[in-house]
Amino acid sequence: MESFTQAVSDWYGEHARDLPWRQPGTSPWAVLVSEIMLQQTPVPRVVPAYAAWLTRWPVPAALAADPPAEAVRMWGKLGYPRRALRLHECAVAITDRHAGAVPSTVDELLALPGVGAYTARAVAAFAFGQRQPVVDTNVRRFVARAVQGQADAGPPSTTRDLAAVETLLPAEPARAARFAVAAMEVGAVVCTARTPRCQACPVRPSCAWLRAGRPAYDGPVKVPQRFAGTDRQVRGLLLDVLRGSADPVGAADLDIAWPDAAQRARALDALVADGLIDPLPDGRVALPGDGPPSPRR
Ligand code: SF4
Repeated sequence: MESFTQAVSDWYGEHARDLPWRQPGTSPWAVLVSEIMLQQTPVPRVVPAYAAWLTRWPVPAALAADPPAEAVRMWGKLGYPRRALRLHECAVAITDRHAGAVPSTVDELLALPGVGAYTARAVAAFAFGQRQPVVDTNVRRFVARAVQGQADAGPPSTTRDLAAVETLLPAEPARAARFAVAAMEVGAVVCTARTPRCQACPVRPSCAWLRAGRPAYDGPVKVPQRFAGTDRQVRGLLLDVLRGSADPVGAADLDIAWPDAAQRARALDALVADGLIDPLPDGRVALPGDGPPSPRR
């Protein structure tokens, strides 16, 4: 396995994309921001949002000092805007519990709002150079093919996936962290889902899937999610109206965002339930923390 991990890490040294969160000196906060943005948004859309976010909030305390509404506004079109709220909650927790410094242990990271098994280990490895299995979709697919000889990884299982990658990690933390990011990169740009670029792959000579004759995937099939016309699209449109307004908005402003009243109401309820908007006593709605202060008793 030594030659496998070395080949992946060497390839990374020559071919890695030049991404801003990989620059030397990137702070743990910047790594955390990048990882949360990258969870469900492609790299090209994250790059400018990441830069703008860190220019405005270079440290967690700066974000914690602003209302959550500003985080939702800055999130813009990255999608899945609950991540903006979780990042704001993270900034508050880091400021309150860790004196403004992103914690370094996986357990402490896991205790932060919205930080799951992947993100905690990604920050521990990429920001703090620890030996951690970092497993995203691309790594799962790469390992399934190169090591396990399967066309795809099948349904995720945190325990099984972490164990599969853990066995590949070099013992020395810095080398393990390097392999972790390198495996992600191979999965993202070489061992891609539809058309793996095997000719350019650093582990082509040993790839178990190629050796097995590229057997077809025979596990459970993921059903692609449609977006147009879904409640998720309507939630995004309603949130756009609020982002574009400095003041709370009323029903008339929201009505023009989507014609179906029942779906609009459902989307609005979901946004309220998620804490992404606040209903106000006068019937209008606002981004969280953006409404008029409650009257004192
Ligand atoms: Fe993936 Fe092809 Fe590399 Fe095997 S040789 S790991 S299938 S890119």
